[in-house]
Amino acid sequence: MTATSKKTTCPYCGVGCGVNVTIPHSVDDIVPPVSGDLEHPANFGRLCVKGSSLAQTLRSDDRLLTPMVAGQAVSWNEAVETVADKIAQVVKDHGPDAFAFYLSGQILTEDYYVANKLAKGFIGTANVDTNSRLCMASAVVGYKRAFGSDTVPCNYEDLERCDLLIMVGSNAAWTHPILYQRIAAAKKQRPEMKIVVIDPRETATCDIADMHLAIKPGSDAAVFSYLLKCSAQAGILDEGFIANHTNGFDEAFAQAKSSTPTLSSAAAFCGVSEQDLNRLVGWWNDTPKTVTFYSQGVNQSSSGVDKCNAIINCHLATGRIGVEGAGPFSITGQPNAMGGREVGGLANQLAAHMDFATPGAQELVQRFWQAPNMATENGLKAVDLFQAMEEGKVKVVWIMSTNPMVSLPDTAQVRRALEKCELVIVSDCKAHTDTTAMADVLFPATGWSEKDGTVTNSERRISRQRGLLPAPGEAKHDWWAICEVAKSLGFQSAFSYRNVHEIFNEHAALSAFENNGRRDFDIGHFSQMTQEEYDALVPVQWPVPKGRPEGTKRMFEDGRFFTSDGRARFVAISPSLPQHQASPAWPFTLNTGRVRDQWHTMTRTGDAASLAKHTAQPYVEIHPKDAKRLSIEDKSLVRLVSPLGQVLLKAKLSRAVAPDNVFAPIHWTQQFANASVVSNLIPQVVDPLSGQPESKHAQVRLEAVADI
Ligand code: SF4
Repeated sequence: MTATSKKTTCPYCGVGCGVNVTIPHSVDDIVPPVSGDLEHPANFGRLCVKGSSLAQTLRSDDRLLTPMVAGQAVSWNEAVETVADKIAQVVKDHGPDAFAFYLSGQILTEDYYVANKLAKGFIGTANVDTNSRLCMASAVVGYKRAFGSDTVPCNYEDLERCDLLIMVGSNAAWTHPILYQRIAAAKKQRPEMKIVVIDPRETATCDIADMHLAIKPGSDAAVFSYLLKCSAQAGILDEGFIANHTNGFDEAFAQAKSSTPTLSSAAAFCGVSEQDLNRLVGWWNDTPKTVTFYSQGVNQSSSGVDKCNAIINCHLATGRIGVEGAGPFSITGQPNAMGGREVGGLANQLAAHMDFATPGAQELVQRFWQAPNMATENGLKAVDLFQAMEEGKVKVVWIMSTNPMVSLPDTAQVRRALEKCELVIVSDCKAHTDTTAMADVLFPATGWSEKDGTVTNSERRISRQRGLLPAPGEAKHDWWAICEVAKSLGFQSAFSYRNVHEIFNEHAALSAFENNGRRDFDIGHFSQMTQEEYDALVPVQWPVPKGRPEGTKRMFEDGRFFTSDGRARFVAISPSLPQHQASPAWPFTLNTGRVRDQWHTMTRTGDAASLAKHTAQPYVEIHPKDAKRLSIEDKSLVRLVSPLGQVLLKAKLSRAVAPDNVFAPIHWTQQFANASVVSNLIPQVVDPLSGQPESKHAQVRLEAVADI
C-alpha cells in the first residue's frame, strides 16, 4: 500500500502557509511527514518551527472522544437534545438574546457560516462573537470607516516589493515567521529597502530593521498624525487622488496639525528622539512605495481603531494604496479570522460582508436563507457578552474551539460569567482545557488533521484545509454538530447539508446574491462548484466574482472604494494614550504578547515537546535598572500584581523593555503553569468602536518573591 500526499493549510497564524502531509497507511503508523507546500503562494515551501512540528501534535492523549453531559458520557443524540431543549426553553422564556455563540478564528469558514446562519436567521440573535475580537476587530472597523468595507488592500508580494516597510506593533519574526522570512529575504536582496519597526519593545523583528522607534506604549497614532502633517509640508500629497477619490482630507489634516504641531511635540508625545522621528519622516517623504504593516500592537488598544485610521490617512493622502508595493496592511493573528469576517461571524456583522445597517441587507439575507427569525440589530461583542452572562442576561453559551478562561481579559470575571450561565456548551477536540472544565455539555470536535473546509489568510487568500486522518472516537465536525442542534430545534431543511462543499457553495451564492453590492467579497464564481472542483480548489484571493476565476491580487487599483459615493474617507484623529496610566501604586506598564514557539493557550503546541525548548516557562521581562531597584535577580520568582489579581513568573532581565515597562507572554494556562495566567491581570478596557480589549496595557507592580 502506498502512502498518499495531501495539501492542506497550517492551523496556526494568519500567514496561512500551505502544508504537504504524507498520509500514513494507518493511524497507528509513525507520525506522517509534514513539509511546506512549494506551490502555495503564502510560503512557497517554507514552514516555521510551529508549522514544521505539526506532526507531533496529531495524536494527543487528551482527546475528547465522546459527548458529555454533566460529566457523564452520553450519545450524540442525547447531548444534542439536551442542548436544543435548553436553547428552545431560554428563547421561549427570555428571548433569543439569552443565547450566544463564542467562536474562534481556528474554526473553518463553513463552521462559521452555519453558526452565523443558525443564530442570526433562525434563533434570532446576533450574539455571535469570536476570539478574533481579541486580534483584529480594530483593523476591521478602521477599514470600514475608511473604505466603507472590511477590505485588506495589499498582498504578501507588496511586502517584498516596497522600498519602505513600516512595521507597527508587530513582532512578525515570532508571530508571523514566514512573512518575516520573506521580508528578510527581500531586504537581503535589496539592502536599500528600508525597514522601520515601531514598537515599545525591542523585539526579534528589529534584527532586520534600519531603525527601531521605541515609542511610548499606545502612542502610535501620533507618529502617523505627524507623518500626515509633514506630508503636506514636504509637498508629497497626492492632490489628484485626494480630490478624485477621497472625502474629509481637510478635517483630518487640520486635526493632525493641531494634535502634532511640531517635531518636538510629536516626539515628546511618542517618547522618542526628534532625530529618529525626523529620520522616519525623511524616509516616508522620499519613498512612494511604502507599506505600513500592523498587527496586535495597534489593534489591542482602547484607541485601536483610531490608530488604524491614522495609518490609513497617511496612505490615502499620498496615494500610496492600490499600487504595487504600497498600502496599509493589517495582519491577522489566527488562521481563519478572515474567513469569520467574510461570513459575518462577528456580533456587529450580519452576513457576507453586510451589516445590519446596510440598506436592504436584512431583507436580502432573510430571503436567501428563508429565515424565520432574523436578528435585527448588533449582538454583544466578546467582553460585553461575558459581562451580560454574569448579569444573567445570556443563559446559554456555546463556545467553540477556544479557551476564553485563559485568553479573555480579567479571567476571574470570565469564570464568574460561566459559573452563572445556566448551560455552557463547549466544542473542543481536547478533553481538558481551562474552559472545558467549566462546561455542562462537551461536544467532541474534530481537530486540524481531521477537519475539512476552507480558511482565508491575511492577504484574502482562500485555501483548503483537508482532512488527513479519520476522526477518533465520536468526534464530529463543528458544522455537523451545529446542524444537528439546528435540526433538533426544528430547522430541518435549512441545515440539511451533507458536506462542507454544499455549505461553501451556499456561502459563495450568498456573497453574490442579487448582486448584493458587496463586490469587495463576491466569490460567486464558486457557487456552482462541483464536489471535485471543491476538492481540487487551489489557493485564490477574493473577490472571485463570476467570470474572474483568477481572483483579485490587490484591491482599489481603480481608486474606487465601497462607500456610497465610491470615495475613501479620511478620519480626523486625536491621538490618545492607553486608558490606564501608571501611578505610584501601579508604577509599571505591562505589555503582553507571544513567544516564538507557542500558540495561544498551548492546547496544541503544548503537545509538541520540541516546541517547549525555546521557552520552557512563563516569564516577565524586566529592565535591569528596575530589577536592581527592586532587588530582583535574573531567573528569580516575581509576583506581578494588578488591581485584578496576581501571577507568579520568572524574571528575565532584559533591555528589550524600557524602564518602568514589563512584558509577559500570554500562553501559559492553569494547566501548564499554575497561577501564571497573565490575562488575569488585564482589565476589560476596550476600544469603544471595535470592542477589542486593550490587552497590551495593564498597570501592575512587581514584588520579589523568595523561592518557594
Ligand atoms: Fe504556520 Fe504561521 Fe508558521 Fe506559516 S508562519 S507555518 S502559517 S505558524
